[in-house]
Order: sequence, then structure tokens, then C-alpha cells
Amino acid sequence: MTGPMSSLSMSETDAGTAMETERKRAIETILTSRGTDDRDPYGAVVPALYTSATFARTPDYELSRGYNYRRYGSPNVADAERLIASLEDGEEALLFASGLAAMSTFLDALRPGARVVAPIVMYHGGLDILRRLDGLGRISLQLVDPSNPESIARSIALHSPNLIWIESPCNPTWDVVDIRAVAGLARKAGSMLVVDGTVAPPCTTRALHLGADIVFHSTTKYLNGHHDMTGGVLVTRHADEGWQELRTLRKLAGNILSPFDAWLLIRGLRTLCVRFHYSSGSALRIAEFLDGHNGVDQVLYPGLPDHPSHRVACRQMTGGFGAMLSVLVQGGAQEALRVARSTELFLPATSLGGVESLIEHRRSVEGPNSVVPENLLRLSIGLEATDDLIADLDQALAQARRG
Ligand code: PLP
Repeated sequence: MTGPMSSLSMSETDAGTAMETERKRAIETILTSRGTDDRDPYGAVVPALYTSATFARTPDYELSRGYNYRRYGSPNVADAERLIASLEDGEEALLFASGLAAMSTFLDALRPGARVVAPIVMYHGGLDILRRLDGLGRISLQLVDPSNPESIARSIALHSPNLIWIESPCNPTWDVVDIRAVAGLARKAGSMLVVDGTVAPPCTTRALHLGADIVFHSTTKYLNGHHDMTGGVLVTRHADEGWQELRTLRKLAGNILSPFDAWLLIRGLRTLCVRFHYSSGSALRIAEFLDGHNGVDQVLYPGLPDHPSHRVACRQMTGGFGAMLSVLVQGGAQEALRVARSTELFLPATSLGGVESLIEHRRSVEGPNSVVPENLLRLSIGLEATDDLIADLDQALAQARRG
């Protein structure tokens, strides 16, 4: 690599060879790899943490091992990027200080006036950014119903977007978008397709394999899985010029992930598949239990046969239907809030994808612009025993009915 990004070249050169060998292995095996070819000088099995903000040059005034200054890149971040790029079978990954930092930086790189198609049901913070950019005239935004493939196809045909941004499953209805179908439409329209795969990590869906150009994750969720860091990652199929621009923007904005958060991310990634498969299995049993419960109007979970996306989910979510579900409690906001206040194991906190199960009244969290039904509770299923979680929800629903 030449030009202003040459200081980062060491990690990229290594990434090529490391990924060539790792690509043939199963995800579970990739997850246990060091993410680097280097052996630790002490033989440590766990990567060392490098907190240094700056890196000394060699006697020839060359960059030592390619690193220069922490805002440009650092060893733990590069290790985590290599690991995630090989999980997704992408060419390169870029890590940011949060999911929304990654998304904002990506959108910042769009040309002024870019046409963007995005779902009306998606993580509300992401939708807020898109609406804000649209309001400022920076992009031209078209919102589509992600549960309706015709609405997506019509919008793409009508607007020839530069960018199609989708989330699958969508927060909080858990509609599963057919990524392969949308990728086909994107290709025909000459649009770039980005998939937010936060809720469906690579052990169940590999969006690049299905035709996406870039896959995005809030690593705050399943990839870390322990509720102890925030981060966001973009993984590209091709590290082209536009991709290098993102690297430059990250360097200028200084919103790169910190070494300690990268270290925690790698630590969490080791168990991603085990955690995800366990939580997914639990979520399915909990969804089936709630589905027949007399305190519940409806359960939204793509693993249930009557969910509108069940068939797409069976095809696309090959490692489990995920650990997120929503419950429409009988009654209104008050009844739902009473349930959320009455659980003992489910913690009333935002976020998802961690060890602890969480319960959340989305309407209260999203504020006045929210279109989420007022009796909806969002559940993130963690690693507790499934029977204990079922008993907890059962007693909370009973308490809420008693008033
Ligand atoms: N995408 C999805 C699907 C999310 O659920 C979230 C956060 O909840 C984000 C993106 C934003 O990520 P972060 O909170 O790490 O900025």
C-alpha cells in the first residue's frame, strides 16, 4: 500500500496470509485462533494487551511493525479485525468505538445527495442518523417495509439507490430479510448493499456469502457477548478505494476501538458460537412457552412457524433463529411495564446479546417518535437455565395480571 495509509500496511499484509489458511476452517475453529501468526515471546496462549498510544520507530526511522499512533491502528485492534474478517470471509474489517460510530463514519463517506433505501423497522439509533442526514439534505432517504419483499423491490427499481441498508432480523419485530434476494436486486440496480447482522452473527448467517458488499455488526452485542464493551465493525468483501476512504475517516475522526475493548472483544469472540447456539435454543423454548400463555397476545420470533419470516429464517439462519424475541402483553403500556418491573432474573436494561437476560419496554426507550406497539416487551435471552427464565416470566405475567 502506498500513500497516506502506508503506516497500516503491516497488519493488512499479514491479514491476507492468515485468512487464506483460516478460511477453510469451521467458524468455531477460527474463533479459537490467535488472529495473528506471531508467537508470544513468553508462550502465552492469550494475546497480550498493548495499551501504548504511540510506537517507536526503528533506527532507520521506519515504522516499527507497521504501527505509528493508536488513532491509526494498534496491535489488539488489528488482531480483532483479522479474526472478524475471517469469520465473515471478508477481505478486511474496520473496528470502531461503537456500532453507531461505524455506521456514522460509513454514511459520512457517501457522496452528497446519495440515494439511500433503508427499512422503516430497524435499530432506532440508526434510523435517527439516516433521518437526520436526510433532513440536512446530505442524503435522499427512502424507507421501505422490510417485511414486504415487493416494497423493497419497488423502491429499488424506482429510486436506483446508491446504498441499500438492511437489518436482519429487524429490531424489534425480528422480520428476516431475504439477503440473497435483495443482493440480486442491488446488483441489477448497481447499488451497494450493507447488512446490519448484529442480531444474526456469522455462526448463523454470513451476509457476504449471500451477496452483501459489506456486513456491519454492533460488536457490543453477540460478538463480545459479555455486556462489558461497546464497539462496531464493518467487514468488506473487497477493500477498494471507498474502503480506504473509511480507514482515513476513522483516523481523522479518532473513533477507532480502544485496545482494551479489542482485547475484551477477542476474549468474548472465543465463545461466540457456544453462547449463540445455547441462547437460540433457549429463546425457541421460551417463545413456544409464551405463545400459548394466557397473559400474552402475540409472540414475535422467527423460529415460530406462524412468524411471517419463518420460511426465510429456516433458509438463512442456518445456526439458529437467534436469541431475541418480542412479546405483546395482553393489555396496554401499563400491563407491559408491570411485567417488566416484576421479573427477577431478566434485568430491566437496554442492549442485547450478553450473558445476562434483559427485558425492555421498547416504547419507553425509543421515545415519542417510536412506532413500536405500547404493549411490546423485547427480550434478550442470555445464558441462564431455560427453565428458570420460563418460571421468571410466568410469575411476572401472573403478578402483572393481579395488578
Ligand atoms: N444495530 C443494531 C441492530 C443494534 O441493536 C444496535 C444497538 O442496540 C446498534 C446497531 C448500535 O450499536 P451500538 O449501541 O454499539 O452503537
